[in-house]
Amino acid sequence: MSLPLSHPALLAADPELAALVAAEERLQSDTLRLIPSENYVSTAVLEASGTVLQNKYSEGYPGRRYYEGQQNIDKVEALAVDRAKALFGVEHANVQPYSGSPANLAVYLAFAEPGDTVMGMALPMGGHLTHGWGVSATGKWFRGVQYGVRADTGRVDLDEVRDLALKERPKLIFCGGTALPRTIDFAAFAEIAREVDAVLVADVAHIAGLIAGGAHPSPAPYADVISTTTHKTLRGPRGAMLMSRASHAKAIDKAVFPGLQGGPHNQTTAAIAVALHEAAQPAFCAYAHQVVANAKALAEALLARGFDLVSGGTDNHLILMDLTSRGVSGKVAAKGLDRAGVVVNYNTVPYDPRKPFDPSGIRIGTPALTSRGLGVEHVAMVAEWIDRGVAAAGAGDEGALSAIRQEVMALLTTHPAPGLPQS
Ligand SMILES: *Cc1c(COP(=O)(O)O)cnc(C)c1O
Repeated sequence: MSLPLSHPALLAADPELAALVAAEERLQSDTLRLIPSENYVSTAVLEASGTVLQNKYSEGYPGRRYYEGQQNIDKVEALAVDRAKALFGVEHANVQPYSGSPANLAVYLAFAEPGDTVMGMALPMGGHLTHGWGVSATGKWFRGVQYGVRADTGRVDLDEVRDLALKERPKLIFCGGTALPRTIDFAAFAEIAREVDAVLVADVAHIAGLIAGGAHPSPAPYADVISTTTHKTLRGPRGAMLMSRASHAKAIDKAVFPGLQGGPHNQTTAAIAVALHEAAQPAFCAYAHQVVANAKALAEALLARGFDLVSGGTDNHLILMDLTSRGVSGKVAAKGLDRAGVVVNYNTVPYDPRKPFDPSGIRIGTPALTSRGLGVEHVAMVAEWIDRGVAAAGAGDEGALSAIRQEVMALLTTHPAPGLPQS
């Protein structure tokens, strides 16, 4: 599919870079993107993030800046904050963190001292680097103790989490992660945190859009702090937010600025405001429920084809496939599927006997395909492509992969992606 030329000024000033952007537009238009942390933002979000708001320095917070000329910027940030508070039902929101990782670092700075014990889910079990994993600053500067999922169920065992918390007495407890196909029991985590007097941080980066759309329970009544990126299911620009009760507002704001960051990225703040406005509309609620319906239908179709799914299925937008019984590694499968126009990432599965750079699993999700308007009627086809693609990748059958590529293109042509130039 050839797309019309976009970004004329960029093309004139820097044709080399413009060509790369155009190639990326084509790639996002012409591939079935199944990476669960990715999405398509709207043209409105794209436009907001490319505005002259980016020309401003605004250290501080609305009404309390260290720079003059903030008449408009203050209103932009206040709008984003008010919309976040209304959408998530929280008393305080900070929209300045540059991304999810620095947002989490700010939480450490607000509530812990170097060397303190912190608890989170282990990375290979589905947690995030910033929840105290060893290679991360959070695991080097703090004493990270890590929980996992049960080998027999693939699910978090809250009795194990409680036992570990009682033994280790962490200052912070993180719940949430990057490869969790099941609903997070925020109430149970809050109970455990209360028992050991820890601060409970719900890191909902992956599921924020589902929470906003009412398709996953909200942590707002239970968590001391909610951390989220804005660019995954929430469908905003690359950025993050920290939310809390009013009692923690000061500590969080001080930690983000001046504790960790300088000037906020105002163009991103504006795009977050737009995304939050979009997320408050009925159409977003429908999208969030469709993401889950599509993931459940896709999981069923994969199970029917004999695939092993960690935890046996999904409650949300994400599916973790264990390819061990297929005799194909996650990396070989992911690279083959990529050549078939189906973009996934290779991923460890819990208790993976293989190494992280060539693990046993692939991780897939439905946010991006749902944003393209694909529904449950399409996911049986997706499951078939994955099935044929994994087999072809294992067999090195490039002809079979190209055949899938043609079929993928035929479907995508009828469902143009938001935010991209259309032919
Ligand atoms: C994506 C993610 C992050 C980190 O976000 P970045 O913007 O990539 O730094 C943190 N926590 C969880 C659970 C995530 O899924």
